[in-house]
Amino acid sequence: MKAPIREIFCSAQGEGPYIGVRQVFVRFEGCNLSCIYCDTPQDKKSEYCRVESVPGSFEFTNLRNPLSPEEVSATMKRYANVHSISLTGGEPLIYAEFIRELNIGVPLYLESNMSLPEKAAKIKDMVDYVAGDFKLAQAHSSDHYDRYLENMVECFRILAKNNKRDCFCKIVLIENFDKEEIINGVSLIEDYVSVVVLQPVTPIGGLKAPSPKEVLGLQEELSYLDVRIIPQSHVIWGAL
Ligand code: SF4
Repeated sequence: MKAPIREIFCSAQGEGPYIGVRQVFVRFEGCNLSCIYCDTPQDKKSEYCRVESVPGSFEFTNLRNPLSPEEVSATMKRYANVHSISLTGGEPLIYAEFIRELNIGVPLYLESNMSLPEKAAKIKDMVDYVAGDFKLAQAHSSDHYDRYLENMVECFRILAKNNKRDCFCKIVLIENFDKEEIINGVSLIEDYVSVVVLQPVTPIGGLKAPSPKEVLGLQEELSYLDVRIIPQSHVIWGAL
């Protein structure tokens, strides 16, 4: 199987409990959801994948899409001493069969919207870190939110933390979030995750983040768990 990939580059993880670690990012094209705060255009197909030539250089060469697992594995040779490979998107789980064929020898860090449990089952033994989203109803522009919630819980169950894998949950918070919805949703997945990350939305496209008081109040309600408030960091210092 081949997969369309937008870009491969080296940077620092900008979100969650692994913020700042050096990673290679493999950004897959395409997503099965349509979140209102999405910063990845879904409408345009990439004829080429841009690949950073030297880590941190912001200089790229192009590879024609779609790419084979062998091509992607080969590009990894130019990036040394990284914490992990971030499989991001878009939604990487769409390409679970492709991911199964990767041969990289570096821990895999899956960033997923947690909506595709059958695909999650295919790669559950390959990933060392899972950054899984719990999307709130207000962010989810689809009529099938109940189905998403069921699938989200099942994905967390399949990819749960264990002695070989860390799994944490990220919740993007927009103003006027429904606190009860979050408390109820977290109760369904709390056994599967090490950390719950509350990420106030980056205010783009007219979206507004909730007030610090609201976010701290939510952290207080969930304080029986390891709940951390961590905004996106890469947008602050202008990294990829
Ligand atoms: S799941 Fe991620 S990539 Fe997909 S629409 Fe939502 S924010 Fe965008």
